[in-house]
Amino acid sequence: MNKGVKYFSGFLLAVALFLTASTSGPAVLAGKDILKITFLNVRQGDSAVIQTPDNKVIVIDGGQLGTRYSRFDAGEEVLIPFLEKEGIKKIDMVVATHPDYDHMGGLVALLNSDIKVDEVLDCGVPHTTGTYKAYVKAIKGKKIPLKIPEKGEVLNWGDKLRAQVIAPQVPPEKRMNRNLNNNSIVIKLDYGEVSFLLTGDCEHEEEHEILGSGARLKADIYKASHHGSRTGSGEVFYYLTDPEVAIISCGKRNKFDHPHWEPIKLFRETGAEILRTDYHGDITVITDGKTYEILED
Ligand SMILES: [Zn+2]
Repeated sequence: MNKGVKYFSGFLLAVALFLTASTSGPAVLAGKDILKITFLNVRQGDSAVIQTPDNKVIVIDGGQLGTRYSRFDAGEEVLIPFLEKEGIKKIDMVVATHPDYDHMGGLVALLNSDIKVDEVLDCGVPHTTGTYKAYVKAIKGKKIPLKIPEKGEVLNWGDKLRAQVIAPQVPPEKRMNRNLNNNSIVIKLDYGEVSFLLTGDCEHEEEHEILGSGARLKADIYKASHHGSRTGSGEVFYYLTDPEVAIISCGKRNKFDHPHWEPIKLFRETGAEILRTDYHGDITVITDGKTYEILED
């Protein structure tokens, strides 16, 4: 298999890894049928924008909401400017993996913006916070359809991709007693020979649920769960995923000390390349379904 990973810093080729690269020179994969996933640097939080070969756009989480305690609003300051820069005026699906403020918060500005959102995929478990209330208010205000995924549901992200919800496996009423992280919508995304595991803040409890389901985890690109916390990326779960690249979304010097050393050690031991939004800024994966390239800010 000819998979290539290249790191570009601006237009400058910084590091080339995996010498099986099938592409030559610093030209970024271009042309038709490109899948592009950008993991945005939203400081301590998660937000990713997926642009599919069928020109669909999916946003997974939005980072944090600005409050009087922390004015940084990832939706206004990072996510919306990125979408505008990309010329995106419509989102086919917003996925709110779970209701924690560092994932759902930035979605509030997006949902209230002029960018049209066709549908929201929600884990189905509510929260008591002002952030959650603002999110619900925005969805209701715009009358955006809200959907809770069925067990193992395959999402309509176009004919060329296979995007399957591999967790949660049970309906919301059966998981209200779990912590919110373990209600995260976890998606396995396959495009040709290149695959992604997008985990939200899934912790060990939900990892066990996934392992019990027999879902195929093997993925080239692993969005490390819960900002690289030791509460996620359990050994069995991670070994079965066995990624080439682990992407950690976390803030510089965050108060949780994410990422923790245990997942980092695990990633290093298996030879995975570790990329972090706090070090590398926005991290973009571009793939034609055969090979992939990674660009950083
Ligand atoms: Zn989080």
